[in-house]
Amino acid sequence: MVETYFIKTFGCQQNVADSERLESYYASRGFMRAKALEEADVLILNTCVIRDRAEEKVYGMIKSLRTKLKNKSPRMVVTGCLVGAAARVPGGKMMKRLTSRLPDVEFLPIEDVGFEYMPQRAKGKMASIVISNGCNNYCAFCIVPFSRGPERSRPFADILEEAKQAVSAGYTEVLLLGQNVNSYGADFLVEKINEGEEYVLPDGALLKPVMVKHLGRHRIPTLFPHLLERVAQTAGVKKVSFISANPWDFSDELIDVIARHENIDRTLHLPVQAGSDAVLKRMNRWYTRAEYLALIDKIRARVSGVEFTTDIIVGFPGETVAQFEESISLAKRVDFAKTFIAWYSPRPGTAATKVMKDDIPIMEKKRRYTELDAVTYKGKRLYRGKK
Ligand code: SF4
Repeated sequence: MVETYFIKTFGCQQNVADSERLESYYASRGFMRAKALEEADVLILNTCVIRDRAEEKVYGMIKSLRTKLKNKSPRMVVTGCLVGAAARVPGGKMMKRLTSRLPDVEFLPIEDVGFEYMPQRAKGKMASIVISNGCNNYCAFCIVPFSRGPERSRPFADILEEAKQAVSAGYTEVLLLGQNVNSYGADFLVEKINEGEEYVLPDGALLKPVMVKHLGRHRIPTLFPHLLERVAQTAGVKKVSFISANPWDFSDELIDVIARHENIDRTLHLPVQAGSDAVLKRMNRWYTRAEYLALIDKIRARVSGVEFTTDIIVGFPGETVAQFEESISLAKRVDFAKTFIAWYSPRPGTAATKVMKDDIPIMEKKRRYTELDAVTYKGKRLYRGKK
Protein backbone atom coordinates (compact mmCIF):
# COMPACT_ATOMS: atom_id res chain seq x y z
CA MET A 1 0.00 0.00 0.00
CA VAL A 2 1.24 3.50 -0.87
CA GLU A 3 2.24 5.49 2.19
CA THR A 4 1.06 9.09 2.52
CA TYR A 5 2.82 12.19 3.86
CA PHE A 6 1.84 15.66 5.04
CA ILE A 7 4.21 18.62 5.44
CA LYS A 8 3.55 21.30 8.07
CA THR A 9 5.68 24.39 7.54
CA PHE A 10 6.64 26.95 10.19
CA GLY A 11 8.46 30.23 9.69
CA CYS A 12 9.67 32.24 6.73
CA GLN A 13 9.34 32.14 2.95
CA GLN A 14 12.60 30.22 2.64
CA ASN A 15 11.04 27.43 4.69
CA VAL A 16 7.98 27.51 2.43
CA ALA A 17 10.30 27.15 -0.58
CA ASP A 18 12.20 24.30 1.12
CA SER A 19 8.88 22.55 1.75
CA GLU A 20 8.13 22.74 -1.98
CA ARG A 21 11.31 20.69 -2.56
CA LEU A 22 10.37 18.34 0.29
CA GLU A 23 7.21 17.53 -1.67
CA SER A 24 9.37 16.25 -4.54
CA TYR A 25 11.70 14.45 -2.14
CA TYR A 26 8.83 12.38 -0.69
CA ALA A 27 7.06 11.94 -4.06
CA SER A 28 10.30 10.56 -5.56
CA ARG A 29 10.39 7.98 -2.78
CA GLY A 30 6.92 6.70 -3.71
CA PHE A 31 4.86 8.59 -1.12
CA MET A 32 1.56 10.30 -1.92
CA ARG A 33 0.49 13.60 -0.38
CA ALA A 34 -2.28 13.12 2.23
CA LYS A 35 -5.30 15.44 2.02
CA ALA A 36 -5.10 16.29 5.71
CA LEU A 37 -2.55 16.06 8.48
CA GLU A 38 -4.73 13.58 10.41
CA GLU A 39 -4.69 11.12 7.50
CA ALA A 40 -0.93 10.96 6.86
CA ASP A 41 1.33 7.99 7.57
CA VAL A 42 4.34 10.31 7.78
CA LEU A 43 4.13 13.80 9.27
CA ILE A 44 6.97 16.15 8.37
CA LEU A 45 7.47 19.33 10.41
CA ASN A 46 9.64 21.92 8.67
CA THR A 47 10.66 24.02 11.65
CA CYS A 48 11.69 27.56 12.60
CA VAL A 49 13.89 28.62 15.54
CA ILE A 50 14.22 32.33 14.92
CA ARG A 51 12.60 32.99 18.30
CA ASP A 52 12.19 30.97 21.42
CA ARG A 53 8.42 30.88 20.89
CA ALA A 54 8.80 29.37 17.40
CA GLU A 55 10.94 26.55 18.80
CA GLU A 56 8.51 25.86 21.66
CA LYS A 57 5.64 25.77 19.15
CA VAL A 58 7.27 22.76 17.45
CA TYR A 59 7.66 20.84 20.71
CA GLY A 60 4.09 21.76 21.70
CA MET A 61 2.66 20.70 18.36
CA ILE A 62 4.37 17.31 18.38
CA LYS A 63 3.10 16.66 21.89
CA SER A 64 -0.49 17.54 20.99
CA LEU A 65 -0.32 15.53 17.73
CA ARG A 66 0.89 12.48 19.66
CA THR A 67 -2.21 12.72 21.88
CA LYS A 68 -4.61 13.57 19.07
CA LEU A 69 -3.38 10.85 16.69
CA LYS A 70 -2.57 8.16 19.23
CA ASN A 71 -4.65 5.52 17.45
CA LYS A 72 -2.85 6.09 14.15
CA SER A 73 0.67 6.80 15.50
CA PRO A 74 2.14 8.32 12.32
CA ARG A 75 5.90 8.43 11.79
CA MET A 76 7.11 11.91 12.65
CA VAL A 77 9.97 13.64 10.89
CA VAL A 78 11.45 16.96 12.00
CA THR A 79 13.48 18.96 9.49
CA GLY A 80 14.51 22.58 8.90
CA CYS A 81 16.08 25.10 11.22
CA LEU A 82 15.61 23.23 14.51
CA VAL A 83 17.62 20.27 13.21
CA GLY A 84 20.29 22.52 11.66
CA ALA A 85 20.69 24.63 14.80
CA ALA A 86 20.84 21.60 17.08
CA ALA A 87 23.67 20.19 14.97
CA ARG A 88 25.67 23.44 14.74
CA VAL A 89 25.17 25.41 17.94
CA PRO A 90 28.38 24.73 19.88
CA GLY A 91 28.21 22.90 23.18
CA GLY A 92 25.62 20.29 22.19
CA LYS A 93 22.94 21.58 24.61
CA MET A 94 20.43 22.23 21.86
CA MET A 95 20.95 18.75 20.38
CA LYS A 96 20.53 17.23 23.83
CA ARG A 97 17.28 19.14 24.31
CA LEU A 98 16.02 18.04 20.89
CA THR A 99 16.78 14.37 21.32
CA SER A 100 15.55 14.22 24.90
CA ARG A 101 12.28 16.07 24.20
CA LEU A 102 11.63 14.22 20.94
CA PRO A 103 13.03 10.72 21.50
CA ASP A 104 10.78 8.97 18.98
CA VAL A 105 11.08 11.42 16.08
CA GLU A 106 13.28 11.12 12.96
CA PHE A 107 15.51 14.08 12.06
CA LEU A 108 16.08 15.07 8.43
CA PRO A 109 18.79 17.71 7.75
CA ILE A 110 17.30 20.01 5.14
CA GLU A 111 20.67 19.97 3.29
CA ASP A 112 19.84 16.37 2.36
CA VAL A 113 16.97 17.69 0.24
CA GLY A 114 19.08 19.12 -2.56
CA PHE A 115 18.16 21.36 -5.48
CA GLU A 116 17.88 18.33 -7.75
CA TYR A 117 14.38 18.05 -6.24
CA MET A 118 12.32 20.48 -8.30
CA PRO A 119 9.87 22.47 -6.17
CA GLN A 120 6.25 21.39 -6.34
CA ARG A 121 4.69 24.80 -6.02
CA ALA A 122 1.21 25.75 -4.96
CA LYS A 123 -0.97 27.22 -7.70
CA GLY A 124 -0.68 30.97 -8.08
CA LYS A 125 1.22 33.71 -9.87
CA MET A 126 4.46 33.75 -7.87
CA ALA A 127 7.27 31.20 -7.93
CA SER A 128 9.83 31.39 -5.10
CA ILE A 129 13.34 30.49 -6.21
CA VAL A 130 16.09 29.94 -3.63
CA ILE A 131 19.35 31.50 -4.85
CA SER A 132 21.45 31.00 -1.74
CA ASN A 133 21.19 29.41 1.65
CA GLY A 134 22.88 30.16 4.97
CA CYS A 135 24.65 33.21 6.31
CA ASN A 136 28.16 34.22 7.38
CA ASN A 137 27.25 37.54 8.97
CA TYR A 138 26.70 36.55 12.59
CA CYS A 139 24.50 39.42 13.66
CA ALA A 140 24.63 39.21 17.45
CA PHE A 141 20.94 38.30 17.88
CA CYS A 142 20.57 35.81 15.02
CA ILE A 143 20.62 32.03 15.05
CA VAL A 144 20.50 31.67 11.24
CA PRO A 145 24.28 31.13 10.74
CA PHE A 146 23.78 28.05 12.95
CA SER A 147 20.35 26.90 11.77
CA ARG A 148 21.27 27.18 8.09
CA GLY A 149 25.06 27.08 8.17
CA PRO A 150 27.48 29.07 6.02
CA GLU A 151 26.27 30.91 2.95
CA ARG A 152 26.19 28.78 -0.19
CA SER A 153 25.02 30.07 -3.55
CA ARG A 154 23.40 28.00 -6.26
CA PRO A 155 24.92 28.05 -9.76
CA PHE A 156 23.83 31.10 -11.79
CA ALA A 157 22.67 29.04 -14.78
CA ASP A 158 20.54 26.72 -12.60
CA ILE A 159 18.64 29.71 -11.20
CA LEU A 160 17.97 31.14 -14.66
CA GLU A 161 16.81 27.71 -15.82
CA GLU A 162 14.44 27.44 -12.85
CA ALA A 163 13.01 30.89 -13.65
CA LYS A 164 12.37 29.77 -17.24
CA GLN A 165 10.73 26.56 -16.06
CA ALA A 166 8.53 28.53 -13.66
CA VAL A 167 7.35 30.72 -16.55
CA SER A 168 6.66 27.61 -18.67
CA ALA A 169 4.58 26.26 -15.78
CA GLY A 170 2.45 29.43 -15.84
CA TYR A 171 4.03 31.57 -13.10
CA THR A 172 4.48 35.23 -14.02
CA GLU A 173 6.22 36.50 -10.89
CA VAL A 174 9.51 35.38 -9.34
CA LEU A 175 10.68 35.86 -5.77
CA LEU A 176 14.45 35.36 -5.34
CA LEU A 177 15.21 34.08 -1.86
CA GLY A 178 18.27 33.97 0.37
CA GLN A 179 19.34 35.19 3.80
CA ASN A 180 21.54 37.77 2.13
CA VAL A 181 20.69 37.83 -1.58
CA ASN A 182 22.96 40.73 -2.43
CA SER A 183 26.14 38.83 -1.57
CA TYR A 184 25.00 36.06 -3.94
CA GLY A 185 27.93 34.23 -5.53
CA ALA A 186 30.63 35.46 -3.12
CA ASP A 187 31.34 31.91 -1.95
CA PHE A 188 32.02 30.37 -5.36
CA LEU A 189 33.63 33.50 -6.80
CA VAL A 190 36.17 33.66 -3.98
CA GLU A 191 36.89 29.94 -4.37
CA LYS A 192 37.09 29.85 -8.15
CA ILE A 193 38.25 33.15 -9.62
CA ASN A 194 40.82 35.79 -8.80
CA GLU A 195 39.92 39.46 -8.26
CA GLY A 196 39.58 41.20 -11.61
CA GLU A 197 38.65 38.01 -13.51
CA GLU A 198 35.24 37.44 -15.05
CA TYR A 199 32.72 34.71 -14.33
CA VAL A 200 31.90 32.58 -17.37
CA LEU A 201 28.32 31.40 -17.86
CA PRO A 202 27.72 28.04 -19.61
CA ASP A 203 26.59 29.98 -22.74
CA GLY A 204 30.00 31.72 -22.84
CA ALA A 205 28.78 35.09 -21.52
CA LEU A 206 31.27 36.88 -19.26
CA LEU A 207 30.10 38.61 -16.09
CA LYS A 208 32.22 41.07 -14.15
CA PRO A 209 31.66 40.54 -10.41
CA VAL A 210 30.54 43.62 -8.48
CA MET A 211 32.61 44.38 -5.38
CA VAL A 212 30.67 45.30 -2.23
CA LYS A 213 31.87 46.67 1.08
CA HIS A 214 30.87 43.60 3.04
CA LEU A 215 30.37 44.09 6.79
CA GLY A 216 32.45 47.25 6.56
CA ARG A 217 35.65 45.23 6.84
CA HIS A 218 36.52 43.79 3.45
CA ARG A 219 35.27 43.87 -0.10
CA ILE A 220 33.67 40.77 -1.53
CA PRO A 221 32.55 39.98 -5.08
CA THR A 222 28.89 39.31 -5.92
CA LEU A 223 26.93 38.49 -9.06
CA PHE A 224 23.55 39.52 -7.65
CA PRO A 225 23.05 42.61 -9.86
CA HIS A 226 23.70 40.40 -12.94
CA LEU A 227 21.42 37.64 -11.69
CA LEU A 228 18.57 40.05 -10.93
CA GLU A 229 18.94 41.64 -14.35
CA ARG A 230 18.92 38.29 -16.17
CA VAL A 231 15.83 37.12 -14.28
CA ALA A 232 14.09 40.44 -15.00
CA GLN A 233 14.92 39.95 -18.70
CA THR A 234 13.53 36.40 -18.79
CA ALA A 235 10.62 36.29 -21.22
CA GLY A 236 7.30 36.04 -19.40
CA VAL A 237 8.54 37.35 -16.03
CA LYS A 238 6.25 40.25 -15.21
CA LYS A 239 7.58 40.95 -11.72
CA VAL A 240 10.75 40.08 -9.78
CA SER A 241 11.13 40.59 -6.04
CA PHE A 242 13.93 39.59 -3.67
CA ILE A 243 14.44 39.04 0.06
CA SER A 244 16.49 39.70 2.05
CA ALA A 245 19.02 42.27 0.94
CA ASN A 246 21.39 43.65 3.54
CA PRO A 247 22.33 47.34 3.64
CA TRP A 248 26.09 46.71 3.57
CA ASP A 249 25.97 44.75 0.28
CA PHE A 250 23.63 47.14 -1.59
CA SER A 251 25.80 48.33 -4.47
CA ASP A 252 25.30 51.19 -6.92
CA GLU A 253 25.21 48.58 -9.69
CA LEU A 254 22.26 46.90 -7.96
CA ILE A 255 20.42 50.23 -7.72
CA ASP A 256 21.05 50.83 -11.43
CA VAL A 257 19.65 47.40 -12.36
CA ILE A 258 16.49 48.09 -10.34
CA ALA A 259 16.13 51.51 -11.94
CA ARG A 260 16.56 50.03 -15.46
CA HIS A 261 13.90 47.33 -15.17
CA GLU A 262 10.36 48.31 -14.38
CA ASN A 263 9.38 44.70 -13.67
CA ILE A 264 11.62 44.69 -10.56
CA ASP A 265 9.46 45.21 -7.48
CA ARG A 266 9.49 48.80 -6.24
CA THR A 267 8.85 47.64 -2.68
CA LEU A 268 12.30 46.84 -1.30
CA HIS A 269 12.88 45.06 1.99
CA LEU A 270 15.92 46.55 3.72
CA PRO A 271 16.30 45.36 7.32
CA VAL A 272 17.61 48.10 9.60
CA GLN A 273 17.08 46.34 12.98
CA ALA A 274 17.76 49.48 15.09
CA GLY A 275 17.95 53.24 14.73
CA SER A 276 20.78 53.82 17.21
CA ASP A 277 24.45 53.55 16.24
CA ALA A 278 25.33 52.12 19.65
CA VAL A 279 22.72 49.37 19.32
CA LEU A 280 23.69 48.62 15.70
CA LYS A 281 27.30 48.22 16.82
CA ARG A 282 26.33 45.80 19.61
CA MET A 283 24.18 43.93 17.08
CA ASN A 284 27.26 43.51 14.82
CA ARG A 285 25.43 45.36 12.04
CA TRP A 286 28.04 47.09 9.90
CA TYR A 287 26.42 50.44 9.09
CA THR A 288 25.50 53.55 10.96
CA ARG A 289 22.09 55.20 11.09
CA ALA A 290 23.45 57.93 8.79
CA GLU A 291 24.76 55.38 6.26
CA TYR A 292 21.43 53.52 6.23
CA LEU A 293 19.51 56.75 5.66
CA ALA A 294 21.96 57.82 2.95
CA LEU A 295 21.36 54.50 1.17
CA ILE A 296 17.58 54.98 1.37
CA ASP A 297 17.93 58.50 -0.05
CA LYS A 298 20.23 57.29 -2.83
CA ILE A 299 17.79 54.56 -3.89
CA ARG A 300 14.85 56.99 -3.73
CA ALA A 301 16.74 59.46 -5.92
CA ARG A 302 17.44 56.84 -8.59
CA VAL A 303 14.40 54.55 -8.52
CA SER A 304 11.08 56.25 -9.04
CA GLY A 305 8.12 54.95 -7.05
CA VAL A 306 10.27 52.96 -4.63
CA GLU A 307 9.04 52.22 -1.09
CA PHE A 308 10.67 50.31 1.73
CA THR A 309 9.80 47.67 4.27
CA THR A 310 12.07 46.72 7.17
CA ASP A 311 12.73 44.60 10.26
CA ILE A 312 13.29 46.22 13.67
CA ILE A 313 14.11 44.52 16.97
CA VAL A 314 13.02 46.24 20.17
CA GLY A 315 14.48 45.54 23.61
CA PHE A 316 17.91 44.36 22.43
CA PRO A 317 20.27 43.98 25.43
CA GLY A 318 21.20 47.38 26.81
CA GLU A 319 18.80 49.34 24.57
CA THR A 320 17.93 52.48 26.51
CA VAL A 321 14.65 54.32 26.06
CA ALA A 322 16.55 57.06 24.21
CA GLN A 323 18.09 54.47 21.86
CA PHE A 324 14.67 52.93 21.24
CA GLU A 325 13.36 56.43 20.42
CA GLU A 326 16.00 56.51 17.67
CA SER A 327 14.31 53.49 16.07
CA ILE A 328 11.03 55.41 16.21
CA SER A 329 12.54 58.52 14.65
CA LEU A 330 14.29 56.49 11.94
CA ALA A 331 11.06 54.67 11.10
CA LYS A 332 9.23 57.99 10.85
CA ARG A 333 11.98 59.52 8.73
CA VAL A 334 11.99 56.63 6.21
CA ASP A 335 8.20 56.20 6.38
CA PHE A 336 8.37 52.44 5.84
CA ALA A 337 5.46 50.88 3.99
CA LYS A 338 5.60 48.04 6.51
CA THR A 339 7.73 47.41 9.58
CA PHE A 340 8.16 43.85 10.81
CA ILE A 341 8.81 44.26 14.53
CA ALA A 342 10.14 41.63 16.93
CA TRP A 343 10.95 41.94 20.59
CA TYR A 344 14.36 40.53 21.40
CA SER A 345 14.52 36.88 22.39
CA PRO A 346 17.89 35.26 23.26
CA ARG A 347 18.85 32.42 20.93
CA PRO A 348 21.40 29.69 21.66
CA GLY A 349 24.92 30.13 20.31
CA THR A 350 24.54 33.82 19.43
CA ALA A 351 26.93 36.52 20.64
CA ALA A 352 24.12 38.40 22.39
CA THR A 353 23.23 35.32 24.42
CA LYS A 354 26.85 34.55 25.24
CA VAL A 355 28.11 37.98 26.27
CA MET A 356 25.14 40.25 26.90
CA LYS A 357 22.49 40.37 29.57
CA ASP A 358 18.87 40.17 28.41
CA ASP A 359 18.14 43.13 30.66
CA ILE A 360 14.97 44.68 29.24
CA PRO A 361 11.90 43.34 31.09
CA ILE A 362 9.37 41.62 28.87
CA MET A 363 6.66 44.18 29.67
CA GLU A 364 8.96 46.98 28.55
CA LYS A 365 9.79 45.06 25.33
CA LYS A 366 6.06 44.73 24.67
CA ARG A 367 5.52 48.42 25.39
CA ARG A 368 8.22 49.36 22.87
CA TYR A 369 6.74 46.93 20.36
CA THR A 370 3.30 48.52 20.73
CA GLU A 371 4.68 52.05 20.50
CA LEU A 372 6.68 51.31 17.35
CA ASP A 373 3.78 49.42 15.83
CA ALA A 374 1.44 52.35 16.48
CA VAL A 375 3.67 54.78 14.58
CA THR A 376 4.50 52.43 11.69
CA TYR A 377 1.36 50.38 11.05
CA LYS A 378 -0.13 51.26 7.70
CA GLY A 379 -3.30 49.21 7.61
CA LYS A 380 -3.77 46.31 5.25
CA ARG A 381 -2.03 47.64 2.16
CA LEU A 382 0.96 45.28 2.42
CA TYR A 383 0.09 43.08 5.34
CA ARG A 384 -2.94 40.91 4.80
CA GLY A 385 -2.60 38.73 7.88
CA LYS A 386 -4.56 39.14 11.05
CA LYS A 387 -3.16 42.01 13.01
S1 SF4 B 1 22.35 38.86 7.97
FE1 SF4 B 1 22.24 38.81 10.21
S2 SF4 B 1 20.00 38.79 10.60
FE2 SF4 B 1 20.26 38.17 8.47
S3 SF4 B 1 20.34 35.92 8.53
FE3 SF4 B 1 22.47 36.66 8.61
S4 SF4 B 1 22.98 36.74 10.79
FE4 SF4 B 1 20.72 36.63 10.62
